[in-house]
Amino acid sequence: MDFDFSPQDKAFRAEVRAFVKDAWQPPADNGPEDEMDVVLRRKDFEKKMVARGYLTMHWPEEYGGRNAGRMQQVIMREEMAAAGAMYLDGQGVNMVGPNLMIHGTEEQRQRFLPDIANGDVVWCQGFSEPNSGSDLASLQCRAVADGDDFVVNGQKVWTSYARYADWMHLLSRTDPEAPKHKGITYFLVDMKTPGISVTPIVNMMNESAGFAETTFEDVRVPRANILGEVDRGWYAAATTLDFERSSIGFTTQSRRTLEQLARHASDTEYRGRPLIEDPVVRDELADLFTAVEVAGLLSYRVTWLQERGVVPNHEASMVKVFGTELRQRISNFGVKLLGLAGQLRNGSAHARMSGAIARDYMWTMAETVYGGTSEIQRNIMATRGLGLPRS
Ligand SMILES: Cc1cc2nc3c(=O)[nH]c(=O)nc-3n(C[C@H](O)[C@H](O)[C@H](O)COP(=O)(O)OP(=O)(O)OC[C@H]3O[C@@H](n4cnc5c(N)ncnc54)[C@H](O)[C@@H]3O)c2cc1C
Repeated sequence: MDFDFSPQDKAFRAEVRAFVKDAWQPPADNGPEDEMDVVLRRKDFEKKMVARGYLTMHWPEEYGGRNAGRMQQVIMREEMAAAGAMYLDGQGVNMVGPNLMIHGTEEQRQRFLPDIANGDVVWCQGFSEPNSGSDLASLQCRAVADGDDFVVNGQKVWTSYARYADWMHLLSRTDPEAPKHKGITYFLVDMKTPGISVTPIVNMMNESAGFAETTFEDVRVPRANILGEVDRGWYAAATTLDFERSSIGFTTQSRRTLEQLARHASDTEYRGRPLIEDPVVRDELADLFTAVEVAGLLSYRVTWLQERGVVPNHEASMVKVFGTELRQRISNFGVKLLGLAGQLRNGSAHARMSGAIARDYMWTMAETVYGGTSEIQRNIMATRGLGLPRS
Protein backbone atom coordinates (compact mmCIF):
# COMPACT_ATOMS: atom_id res chain seq x y z
CA MET A 1 0.00 0.00 0.00
CA ASP A 2 1.33 3.45 -0.93
CA PHE A 3 0.84 5.99 1.86
CA ASP A 4 2.64 8.80 0.06
CA PHE A 5 0.94 11.99 -1.10
CA SER A 6 0.59 12.68 -4.85
CA PRO A 7 2.95 15.28 -6.43
CA GLN A 8 -0.05 17.66 -6.70
CA ASP A 9 -0.82 17.23 -2.99
CA LYS A 10 2.81 17.82 -2.10
CA ALA A 11 2.86 21.00 -4.18
CA PHE A 12 -0.36 22.14 -2.50
CA ARG A 13 1.15 21.47 0.92
CA ALA A 14 4.18 23.62 0.07
CA GLU A 15 1.90 26.43 -1.15
CA VAL A 16 -0.30 26.27 1.95
CA ARG A 17 2.64 26.05 4.35
CA ALA A 18 4.11 29.23 2.87
CA PHE A 19 0.73 30.95 3.08
CA VAL A 20 0.12 30.00 6.73
CA LYS A 21 3.63 31.05 7.73
CA ASP A 22 3.06 34.44 6.17
CA ALA A 23 -0.60 34.99 7.12
CA TRP A 24 -0.92 33.70 10.68
CA GLN A 25 0.23 35.99 13.47
CA PRO A 26 1.15 33.79 16.43
CA PRO A 27 0.65 35.25 19.92
CA ALA A 28 3.44 37.42 21.25
CA ASP A 29 6.01 35.10 22.83
CA ASN A 30 5.52 35.08 26.56
CA GLY A 31 3.29 38.13 26.46
CA PRO A 32 0.14 38.13 28.61
CA GLU A 33 -2.75 36.16 27.12
CA ASP A 34 -5.51 38.38 25.77
CA GLU A 35 -8.81 36.85 24.64
CA MET A 36 -9.77 39.69 22.32
CA ASP A 37 -6.36 39.45 20.70
CA VAL A 38 -7.07 35.79 19.89
CA VAL A 39 -10.42 36.66 18.31
CA LEU A 40 -8.90 39.46 16.21
CA ARG A 41 -5.94 37.35 15.05
CA ARG A 42 -8.30 34.54 13.99
CA LYS A 43 -10.50 37.00 12.08
CA ASP A 44 -7.45 38.52 10.40
CA PHE A 45 -6.29 35.06 9.32
CA GLU A 46 -9.80 34.23 8.08
CA LYS A 47 -9.82 37.32 5.87
CA LYS A 48 -6.45 36.37 4.40
CA MET A 49 -7.80 32.88 3.68
CA VAL A 50 -10.73 34.47 1.86
CA ALA A 51 -8.36 36.55 -0.27
CA ARG A 52 -6.53 33.39 -1.36
CA GLY A 53 -9.70 31.33 -1.88
CA TYR A 54 -8.86 28.90 0.94
CA LEU A 55 -11.61 29.57 3.50
CA THR A 56 -14.42 27.78 1.69
CA MET A 57 -12.32 25.85 -0.81
CA HIS A 58 -14.29 22.67 0.01
CA TRP A 59 -17.57 24.31 -1.05
CA PRO A 60 -18.95 24.02 -4.62
CA GLU A 61 -17.89 26.78 -7.02
CA GLU A 62 -21.42 28.16 -7.32
CA TYR A 63 -21.34 29.12 -3.63
CA GLY A 64 -17.88 30.65 -3.58
CA GLY A 65 -15.80 27.50 -3.17
CA ARG A 66 -13.51 25.60 -5.50
CA ASN A 67 -14.58 21.97 -5.00
CA ALA A 68 -11.34 21.10 -3.20
CA GLY A 69 -10.99 17.38 -2.56
CA ARG A 70 -10.83 15.79 0.88
CA MET A 71 -7.08 15.38 0.76
CA GLN A 72 -6.53 19.08 0.13
CA GLN A 73 -8.82 19.89 3.05
CA VAL A 74 -6.79 17.57 5.25
CA ILE A 75 -3.54 19.17 4.11
CA MET A 76 -4.93 22.63 4.87
CA ARG A 77 -6.03 21.57 8.35
CA GLU A 78 -2.73 19.85 9.04
CA GLU A 79 -0.70 22.88 8.02
CA MET A 80 -2.88 25.20 10.08
CA ALA A 81 -2.72 22.97 13.15
CA ALA A 82 1.06 22.61 12.76
CA ALA A 83 1.37 26.42 13.00
CA GLY A 84 -1.33 26.77 15.68
CA ALA A 85 -3.40 28.81 13.19
CA MET A 86 -7.19 29.03 13.33
CA TYR A 87 -9.92 31.07 11.72
CA LEU A 88 -12.90 32.36 13.65
CA ASP A 89 -16.05 31.21 11.91
CA GLY A 90 -15.69 27.43 12.03
CA GLN A 91 -19.43 27.09 12.65
CA GLY A 92 -20.37 29.03 9.52
CA VAL A 93 -17.77 27.52 7.22
CA ASN A 94 -18.02 23.87 8.25
CA MET A 95 -21.53 23.48 9.60
CA VAL A 96 -24.07 26.17 8.69
CA GLY A 97 -22.79 26.65 5.12
CA PRO A 98 -22.78 22.94 4.17
CA ASN A 99 -26.15 22.47 5.93
CA LEU A 100 -27.65 25.34 3.95
CA MET A 101 -26.45 23.67 0.75
CA ILE A 102 -28.25 20.45 1.71
CA HIS A 103 -31.36 21.64 3.57
CA GLY A 104 -31.70 25.38 2.78
CA THR A 105 -33.88 27.12 0.21
CA GLU A 106 -32.23 28.91 -2.72
CA GLU A 107 -33.24 32.24 -1.15
CA GLN A 108 -31.51 31.25 2.13
CA ARG A 109 -28.38 30.17 0.30
CA GLN A 110 -28.18 33.47 -1.60
CA ARG A 111 -28.76 35.35 1.63
CA PHE A 112 -26.35 33.60 3.98
CA LEU A 113 -23.60 31.84 2.05
CA PRO A 114 -21.81 34.88 0.55
CA ASP A 115 -21.26 36.43 3.98
CA ILE A 116 -19.79 33.18 5.31
CA ALA A 117 -17.59 32.70 2.24
CA ASN A 118 -16.34 36.30 2.54
CA GLY A 119 -15.54 36.00 6.25
CA ASP A 120 -17.98 38.85 6.99
CA VAL A 121 -19.93 37.06 9.68
CA VAL A 122 -19.52 34.86 12.77
CA TRP A 123 -21.94 32.04 13.61
CA CYS A 124 -22.47 30.31 16.92
CA GLN A 125 -24.20 27.05 17.74
CA GLY A 126 -27.24 27.00 20.05
CA PHE A 127 -27.75 23.29 20.58
CA SER A 128 -26.77 22.32 24.17
CA GLU A 129 -28.93 23.21 27.15
CA PRO A 130 -28.36 22.87 30.91
CA ASN A 131 -30.22 19.53 30.87
CA SER A 132 -29.54 18.44 27.29
CA GLY A 133 -26.06 17.69 26.05
CA SER A 134 -25.34 14.12 25.06
CA ASP A 135 -29.06 13.46 24.90
CA LEU A 136 -29.56 16.51 22.71
CA ALA A 137 -32.98 15.45 21.45
CA SER A 138 -34.38 16.03 24.95
CA LEU A 139 -33.92 19.80 24.53
CA GLN A 140 -36.59 22.06 26.00
CA CYS A 141 -36.01 25.51 24.47
CA ARG A 142 -39.46 26.24 23.07
CA ALA A 143 -40.58 27.95 19.85
CA VAL A 144 -44.27 28.70 19.26
CA ALA A 145 -45.75 29.78 15.91
CA ASP A 146 -47.23 33.28 15.85
CA GLY A 147 -48.18 34.64 12.41
CA ASP A 148 -45.11 34.84 10.18
CA ASP A 149 -42.80 34.31 13.15
CA PHE A 150 -41.94 31.79 15.80
CA VAL A 151 -41.48 33.07 19.35
CA VAL A 152 -38.57 31.46 21.18
CA ASN A 153 -38.23 31.11 24.96
CA GLY A 154 -35.58 29.11 26.74
CA GLN A 155 -31.94 28.73 27.56
CA LYS A 156 -28.83 27.48 25.78
CA VAL A 157 -25.46 26.88 27.36
CA TRP A 158 -21.79 26.43 26.37
CA THR A 159 -22.45 28.62 23.33
CA SER A 160 -18.94 29.15 21.97
CA TYR A 161 -18.25 32.64 20.61
CA ALA A 162 -21.82 33.80 21.37
CA ARG A 163 -20.37 37.15 22.47
CA TYR A 164 -18.87 37.79 19.05
CA ALA A 165 -21.43 36.02 16.90
CA ASP A 166 -23.74 37.76 14.43
CA TRP A 167 -25.94 34.69 13.92
CA MET A 168 -26.85 31.52 15.76
CA HIS A 169 -28.01 28.19 14.38
CA LEU A 170 -30.54 27.13 16.98
CA LEU A 171 -32.47 23.98 17.78
CA SER A 172 -35.80 24.59 19.43
CA ARG A 173 -38.79 22.42 20.30
CA THR A 174 -41.84 23.24 18.20
CA ASP A 175 -44.00 20.20 18.99
CA PRO A 176 -43.77 19.04 22.61
CA GLU A 177 -46.31 16.26 21.97
CA ALA A 178 -44.30 14.54 19.22
CA PRO A 179 -41.60 11.90 19.90
CA LYS A 180 -38.52 13.82 21.01
CA HIS A 181 -36.58 13.63 17.73
CA LYS A 182 -39.58 14.74 15.69
CA GLY A 183 -40.73 17.97 17.33
CA ILE A 184 -37.54 20.01 16.84
CA THR A 185 -37.01 22.86 14.37
CA TYR A 186 -33.70 24.31 13.13
CA PHE A 187 -33.67 28.13 13.15
CA LEU A 188 -31.19 30.70 11.88
CA VAL A 189 -31.32 33.53 14.41
CA ASP A 190 -29.97 37.06 14.18
CA MET A 191 -28.11 37.61 17.48
CA LYS A 192 -29.23 41.26 17.51
CA THR A 193 -32.89 40.24 17.86
CA PRO A 194 -34.47 41.78 20.99
CA GLY A 195 -34.86 39.29 23.86
CA ILE A 196 -31.51 37.50 23.43
CA SER A 197 -29.06 37.89 26.28
CA VAL A 198 -25.56 36.46 26.38
CA THR A 199 -23.81 35.87 29.70
CA PRO A 200 -20.14 34.86 29.47
CA ILE A 201 -19.04 31.77 31.40
CA VAL A 202 -15.49 31.89 32.68
CA ASN A 203 -13.80 28.52 32.15
CA MET A 204 -11.09 26.98 34.33
CA MET A 205 -8.41 28.65 32.21
CA ASN A 206 -9.91 31.93 33.42
CA GLU A 207 -11.06 32.76 29.90
CA SER A 208 -14.52 33.84 28.87
CA ALA A 209 -14.15 34.25 25.10
CA GLY A 210 -15.16 30.70 24.40
CA PHE A 211 -18.27 30.19 26.43
CA ALA A 212 -21.60 31.78 27.18
CA GLU A 213 -25.05 31.05 28.41
CA THR A 214 -27.66 32.38 26.01
CA THR A 215 -31.21 33.08 27.08
CA PHE A 216 -34.23 33.76 24.90
CA GLU A 217 -37.19 35.79 26.11
CA ASP A 218 -39.97 36.16 23.54
CA VAL A 219 -37.45 36.24 20.70
CA ARG A 220 -39.22 36.57 17.33
CA VAL A 221 -37.67 34.55 14.52
CA PRO A 222 -39.23 34.80 11.04
CA ARG A 223 -40.45 31.58 9.43
CA ALA A 224 -38.16 32.42 6.51
CA ASN A 225 -35.25 31.61 8.86
CA ILE A 226 -36.17 27.97 9.36
CA LEU A 227 -33.63 25.60 7.89
CA GLY A 228 -35.45 22.62 6.40
CA GLU A 229 -38.97 21.83 7.56
CA VAL A 230 -40.81 22.68 10.78
CA ASP A 231 -40.45 19.81 13.32
CA ARG A 232 -37.79 18.12 11.13
CA GLY A 233 -34.78 20.06 12.41
CA TRP A 234 -33.20 17.04 14.06
CA TYR A 235 -32.28 15.61 10.69
CA ALA A 236 -30.57 18.81 9.55
CA ALA A 237 -28.79 18.91 12.93
CA ALA A 238 -27.58 15.35 12.44
CA THR A 239 -25.93 16.47 9.20
CA THR A 240 -24.14 19.15 11.20
CA LEU A 241 -22.76 16.66 13.66
CA ASP A 242 -21.38 14.50 10.87
CA PHE A 243 -19.33 17.44 9.65
CA GLU A 244 -18.07 18.17 13.14
CA ARG A 245 -16.81 14.62 13.73
CA SER A 246 -14.49 14.35 10.76
CA SER A 247 -11.65 16.49 12.17
CA ILE A 248 -7.96 15.79 11.74
CA GLY A 249 -6.41 18.68 13.69
CA PHE A 250 -5.91 16.69 16.91
CA THR A 251 -3.17 14.56 15.35
CA THR A 252 -1.20 17.49 14.04
CA GLN A 253 -1.52 19.42 17.29
CA SER A 254 -0.30 16.33 19.14
CA ARG A 255 2.72 15.99 16.86
CA ARG A 256 3.52 19.69 17.22
CA THR A 257 3.38 19.60 21.03
CA LEU A 258 5.41 16.40 21.19
CA GLU A 259 8.11 17.81 18.91
CA GLN A 260 8.32 20.87 21.15
CA LEU A 261 8.62 18.63 24.23
CA ALA A 262 11.33 16.53 22.55
CA ARG A 263 13.25 19.74 21.75
CA HIS A 264 12.86 20.88 25.34
CA ALA A 265 14.17 17.52 26.58
CA SER A 266 17.19 17.84 24.28
CA ASP A 267 17.96 21.41 25.34
CA THR A 268 17.45 20.95 29.10
CA GLU A 269 20.04 19.46 31.43
CA TYR A 270 19.05 17.51 34.49
CA ARG A 271 21.71 16.17 36.88
CA GLY A 272 24.48 16.85 34.39
CA ARG A 273 22.96 15.35 31.25
CA PRO A 274 20.22 16.27 28.77
CA LEU A 275 16.77 15.12 29.85
CA ILE A 276 16.39 13.29 26.55
CA GLU A 277 19.04 10.80 27.67
CA ASP A 278 16.86 9.68 30.56
CA PRO A 279 15.46 6.25 29.55
CA VAL A 280 12.07 6.99 31.12
CA VAL A 281 11.72 10.19 29.08
CA ARG A 282 12.88 8.45 25.89
CA ASP A 283 10.49 5.58 26.46
CA GLU A 284 7.52 7.88 27.01
CA LEU A 285 8.40 10.04 24.00
CA ALA A 286 8.72 6.98 21.76
CA ASP A 287 5.39 5.64 22.98
CA LEU A 288 3.61 8.94 22.38
CA PHE A 289 5.21 9.51 18.95
CA THR A 290 4.03 6.02 17.95
CA ALA A 291 0.52 6.86 19.14
CA VAL A 292 0.61 10.07 17.06
CA GLU A 293 1.36 7.99 13.96
CA VAL A 294 -1.58 5.70 14.80
CA ALA A 295 -3.85 8.73 15.22
CA GLY A 296 -2.66 10.03 11.83
CA LEU A 297 -3.49 6.74 10.11
CA LEU A 298 -6.94 6.64 11.73
CA SER A 299 -7.58 10.19 10.48
CA TYR A 300 -6.43 9.36 6.96
CA ARG A 301 -8.75 6.37 6.99
CA VAL A 302 -11.68 8.70 7.63
CA THR A 303 -10.53 10.93 4.76
CA TRP A 304 -10.12 7.90 2.51
CA LEU A 305 -13.69 6.82 3.29
CA GLN A 306 -15.00 10.31 2.60
CA GLU A 307 -13.15 10.42 -0.72
CA ARG A 308 -15.12 7.31 -1.67
CA GLY A 309 -18.41 8.96 -0.77
CA VAL A 310 -18.86 7.03 2.49
CA VAL A 311 -20.05 9.05 5.51
CA PRO A 312 -17.69 7.97 8.30
CA ASN A 313 -19.47 6.95 11.44
CA HIS A 314 -17.79 4.73 14.03
CA GLU A 315 -14.51 5.40 12.16
CA ALA A 316 -14.86 9.12 12.95
CA SER A 317 -15.67 8.25 16.56
CA MET A 318 -12.42 6.28 16.78
CA VAL A 319 -10.43 9.30 15.58
CA LYS A 320 -12.19 11.59 18.04
CA VAL A 321 -11.61 9.33 21.05
CA PHE A 322 -8.06 8.33 20.18
CA GLY A 323 -6.98 11.82 19.07
CA THR A 324 -8.41 13.73 22.03
CA GLU A 325 -7.32 11.23 24.68
CA LEU A 326 -3.85 11.26 23.14
CA ARG A 327 -3.79 15.05 23.49
CA GLN A 328 -4.54 14.60 27.20
CA ARG A 329 -1.77 12.00 27.57
CA ILE A 330 0.71 14.33 25.90
CA SER A 331 -0.14 17.33 28.07
CA ASN A 332 0.01 15.14 31.15
CA PHE A 333 3.50 14.01 30.10
CA GLY A 334 4.41 17.63 29.32
CA VAL A 335 3.46 18.87 32.78
CA LYS A 336 5.68 16.20 34.33
CA LEU A 337 8.56 16.84 31.94
CA LEU A 338 8.58 20.60 32.49
CA GLY A 339 8.39 20.24 36.25
CA LEU A 340 7.14 23.31 38.11
CA ALA A 341 7.40 25.41 34.93
CA GLY A 342 4.78 23.10 33.41
CA GLN A 343 2.14 24.87 35.48
CA LEU A 344 2.96 28.37 34.23
CA ARG A 345 1.01 30.19 31.54
CA ASN A 346 2.17 32.63 28.91
CA GLY A 347 3.04 35.91 30.62
CA SER A 348 5.21 34.38 33.33
CA ALA A 349 8.96 34.96 32.99
CA HIS A 350 9.55 31.32 33.93
CA ALA A 351 7.03 29.76 31.52
CA ARG A 352 8.35 27.25 28.97
CA MET A 353 7.00 26.73 25.46
CA SER A 354 5.04 29.99 25.87
CA GLY A 355 2.91 28.35 28.56
CA ALA A 356 1.41 25.97 25.99
CA ILE A 357 1.56 22.91 28.21
CA ALA A 358 -0.28 24.41 31.18
CA ARG A 359 -2.91 25.69 28.78
CA ASP A 360 -3.19 22.37 26.89
CA TYR A 361 -3.45 20.47 30.16
CA MET A 362 -6.65 22.35 30.97
CA TRP A 363 -8.01 22.82 27.46
CA THR A 364 -7.67 19.18 26.36
CA MET A 365 -10.14 18.21 29.08
CA ALA A 366 -12.77 19.97 26.98
CA GLU A 367 -11.75 18.07 23.84
CA THR A 368 -13.14 14.77 25.15
CA VAL A 369 -16.44 16.55 25.83
CA TYR A 370 -17.35 18.85 22.93
CA GLY A 371 -18.51 17.37 19.65
CA GLY A 372 -19.71 14.28 21.55
CA THR A 373 -18.06 12.93 24.71
CA SER A 374 -15.70 9.95 24.70
CA GLU A 375 -18.40 7.81 26.30
CA ILE A 376 -20.86 8.65 23.53
CA GLN A 377 -18.20 7.94 20.87
CA ARG A 378 -17.50 4.59 22.53
CA ASN A 379 -21.22 3.81 22.45
CA ILE A 380 -21.20 4.49 18.70
CA MET A 381 -18.12 2.30 18.20
CA ALA A 382 -19.75 -0.49 20.23
CA THR A 383 -23.15 -0.45 18.55
CA ARG A 384 -22.44 0.65 14.98
CA GLY A 385 -18.84 -0.52 14.69
CA LEU A 386 -18.90 -3.81 16.60
CA GLY A 387 -22.63 -4.47 16.27
CA LEU A 388 -23.11 -4.88 20.02
CA PRO A 389 -26.68 -4.53 21.31
CA ARG A 390 -27.91 -1.16 22.60
CA SER A 391 -28.43 -1.15 26.34
C1 LIG B 1 -15.21 23.63 24.84
C2 LIG B 1 -16.66 23.32 24.59
C3 LIG B 1 -17.34 24.04 23.64
C4 LIG B 1 -18.69 23.79 23.41
N1 LIG B 1 -19.35 24.56 22.48
C5 LIG B 1 -20.66 24.35 22.29
C6 LIG B 1 -21.37 25.20 21.38
O1 LIG B 1 -20.83 26.12 20.76
N2 LIG B 1 -22.70 25.00 21.24
C7 LIG B 1 -23.36 23.99 21.89
O2 LIG B 1 -24.55 23.83 21.67
N3 LIG B 1 -22.72 23.18 22.78
C8 LIG B 1 -21.39 23.35 23.00
N4 LIG B 1 -20.71 22.57 23.89
C9 LIG B 1 -21.47 21.58 24.69
C10 LIG B 1 -21.18 20.13 24.33
O3 LIG B 1 -21.76 19.78 23.11
C11 LIG B 1 -21.71 19.28 25.50
O4 LIG B 1 -20.92 19.60 26.63
C12 LIG B 1 -21.59 17.81 25.23
O5 LIG B 1 -22.50 17.42 24.22
C13 LIG B 1 -21.89 16.97 26.51
O6 LIG B 1 -23.09 17.35 27.08
P1 LIG B 1 -23.17 17.77 28.63
O7 LIG B 1 -22.08 18.73 28.93
O8 LIG B 1 -24.57 18.20 28.89
O9 LIG B 1 -22.86 16.45 29.42
P2 LIG B 1 -23.88 15.24 29.73
O10 LIG B 1 -24.53 14.83 28.46
O11 LIG B 1 -24.75 15.64 30.86
O12 LIG B 1 -22.88 14.10 30.17
C14 LIG B 1 -22.33 14.01 31.49
C15 LIG B 1 -21.49 12.76 31.55
O13 LIG B 1 -22.32 11.58 31.34
C16 LIG B 1 -21.83 10.81 30.26
N5 LIG B 1 -22.97 10.26 29.50
C17 LIG B 1 -24.05 10.92 29.06
N6 LIG B 1 -24.86 10.09 28.35
C18 LIG B 1 -24.25 8.87 28.34
C19 LIG B 1 -24.57 7.61 27.76
N7 LIG B 1 -25.69 7.44 27.04
N8 LIG B 1 -23.69 6.59 27.93
C20 LIG B 1 -22.55 6.75 28.65
N9 LIG B 1 -22.19 7.93 29.21
C21 LIG B 1 -23.02 8.98 29.07
C22 LIG B 1 -21.05 11.79 29.40
O14 LIG B 1 -20.08 11.11 28.61
C23 LIG B 1 -20.42 12.70 30.46
O15 LIG B 1 -19.26 12.09 30.98
C24 LIG B 1 -19.37 22.78 24.14
C25 LIG B 1 -18.67 22.05 25.12
C26 LIG B 1 -17.35 22.32 25.36
C27 LIG B 1 -16.63 21.52 26.40
